Amino acid sequence: MKIYLDGQFVDSAEAKISVFDHGLLYGDGIFEGIRLYEGNVFRLDAHLDRLWCSAKAILLTIPISRRDMVEAVCESCRQNGLRDGYIRLVVTRGVGDLGLAPWLCAKPSVFIIADKIALYPPEYYTSGLSIVTVPTRRVGPAALPPMVKSLNYLNNILAKIEARQAGALEAIMLNDAGFVAECTGDNVFIVCQGRLLTPAAQQGALKGITRETIVSVAQALSLPFEEHDLTRYDLWNADECFLTGTGAEVIPVVKLDGREIGDGKPGPVTNRVLAEFRRRVLVEGTKI
Ligand code: PMP
Repeated sequence: MKIYLDGQFVDSAEAKISVFDHGLLYGDGIFEGIRLYEGNVFRLDAHLDRLWCSAKAILLTIPISRRDMVEAVCESCRQNGLRDGYIRLVVTRGVGDLGLAPWLCAKPSVFIIADKIALYPPEYYTSGLSIVTVPTRRVGPAALPPMVKSLNYLNNILAKIEARQAGALEAIMLNDAGFVAECTGDNVFIVCQGRLLTPAAQQGALKGITRETIVSVAQALSLPFEEHDLTRYDLWNADECFLTGTGAEVIPVVKLDGREIGDGKPGPVTNRVLAEFRRRVLVEGTKI
């Protein structure tokens, strides 16, 4: 496998980052997860918009131009002979000393891994997931804007471990006020009396690119959509529930905290959204 690392393509065994990189020492960096479908990179512009916004928010200067970044992403896919896959694009603060000071890091590093991903076993896309709410909370917007897709995922990792300890593959994370924020790597939607609802970013949700795609799918399907404060109670009593993310795509949830959602099967709205999502990913995108 060839990895893009600071302007070069190197074998994965040679793709190494310094132990003094602040991405590693402090989680000081940002990333994107992007999908490739049949030779088209899905919503590359939206991912790069978010990457540049994350960089601005943490005062990080991405060391290459946007045009070069597009080329690096596409070339990473071509170098690995991929037509379908998952692209991980990371920008770290770069090599510094042992203190926090990011201004001592001379140059940010960029690396891109283009590979395959299967987040959940395929059968769950038809049968639906059973998930749980976990104790670890999402970091509040006053501490770190949830829009920043940073290398700090420790809360989410703890939540993922807690989900596994409870025998579930995914977890609902609440914010400090007890409202639903999102899952460890996915956004959450419910269907309630024909309306599609999802928490606002201010409640601790990442502004997911898939989430945004689903909002546009909802418009196309004439489904009323609203950002709404949601509690666990709202999820338990929803008609339907599903998760969205670049890795997960759209996956139904049929049980939360031991309560069946709706009739305990993926619902008709979820299935319509999923079908339209699958159609779109094949017709939109940047050719590699
Ligand atoms: N929330 C979190 C915490 C995530 O890490 C992700 C991405 N895996 C998402 C939501 C979904 O975002 P996107 O649709 O842009 O992949």
